[in-house]
Amino acid sequence: MYTGGCLCGSVRFAIQGPIRNIVYCHCSRCRKAQGSAFATNGIVRANEFTLLSGAELLTGYESSPGQTKYFCKTCGSPILSRTESLPEQVRVRLGTIDSDIVERPTAHIFASSKANWEEISDDLPQYEGYEPNRGAF
Ligand SMILES: [Zn+2]
Ligand SMILES: [Zn+2]
Repeated sequence: MYTGGCLCGSVRFAIQGPIRNIVYCHCSRCRKAQGSAFATNGIVRANEFTLLSGAELLTGYESSPGQTKYFCKTCGSPILSRTESLPEQVRVRLGTIDSDIVERPTAHIFASSKANWEEISDDLPQYEGYEPNRGAF
């Protein structure tokens, strides 16, 4: 089981299952949402994600149609996103997890949108858009 939370500590969550399809997303929306070169996200089954505290502070912003990013209203930490068409999963921002995780990133997505000051220097596959078989468990 993994646990994590936001910067101010109000929002706390637990993950009971594995984290799948971890990707670095370099798209412009993720860059703005993180204030950084990319977001690192992984898929967790919605029924294996438990909000332990701070539900009243978790605020959603629909960053593109049908996709909502949730963040802590007090400290701004990005926690997860949900896609309307994929209600059985949530995409967790890995930097908010406190535990050591055993899974590893598998790909760079939207690599063609990356910031011009960023250099991707590992050997993971790079995709122009979403990774193949996105959404599949
Ligand atoms: Zn917070
Ligand atoms: Zn993105």
